[in-house]
Amino acid sequence: MKCPYCQSGNLEGALICASCGRDVAVPATLIAERDDLSRKRDALRAELRQARDEMEAIMQRRKSR
Ligand SMILES: [Zn+2]
Repeated sequence: MKCPYCQSGNLEGALICASCGRDVAVPATLIAERDDLSRKRDALRAELRQARDEMEAIMQRRKSR
């Protein structure tokens, strides 16, 4: 786990950075929320790509007519 302040490596689950002494503990709820958000982001990205592909297909069809 990296310290967000000084970027030095710390043991997993460390509460305080061994290098700069700052509080680096992240609540599990925040980590879960982040994971959830990144999953949603990936899903939205896939949806966006699909929509773009569909739009391009429609444009291609229009062009060929
Ligand atoms: Zn640090």
